[in-house]
Amino acid sequence: MLVNQSTIPSLISMDKPCKLSKNVPNPNGYASKVIKGKRYLHHRLVWEMAFGPIPDGLFVCHRCDVRNCIEITHLFLGTSNDNVQDMINKGRQSKRLTEEEVLDIKKKEESVEVLAKKYHITETHVRYIWQGKVWRWL
Ligand SMILES: [Zn+2]
Repeated sequence: MLVNQSTIPSLISMDKPCKLSKNVPNPNGYASKVIKGKRYLHHRLVWEMAFGPIPDGLFVCHRCDVRNCIEITHLFLGTSNDNVQDMINKGRQSKRLTEEEVLDIKKKEESVEVLAKKYHITETHVRYIWQGKVWRWL
């Protein structure tokens, strides 16, 4: 099934802060929700509730790189290629952290502002790491 994506991009914006799932993130960082004994990824459920079933082979990606975020305006549909391309496009503003980098942030040896600049992530993201809302398993 082909999706007409042109109807969707207007939704994508980073005006709103991340809305974190109340469900505990799994080891990959994605929050899942169990419905009638079946486990679903929470952000995919949110997407499906808004737009209907996710076409085969497509992924619900995060504009904000916060994997347990379920803020609908941060989600977009893409292929695994888009996911990679999106990360590259974003480059400066945001990037995936390595475990070493997260552990460094968790030491709290530097201020939120300094850490956000150092790792090219948002200050909110730094605070979430400190509060254990993301990367809790490290
Ligand atoms: Zn988000």
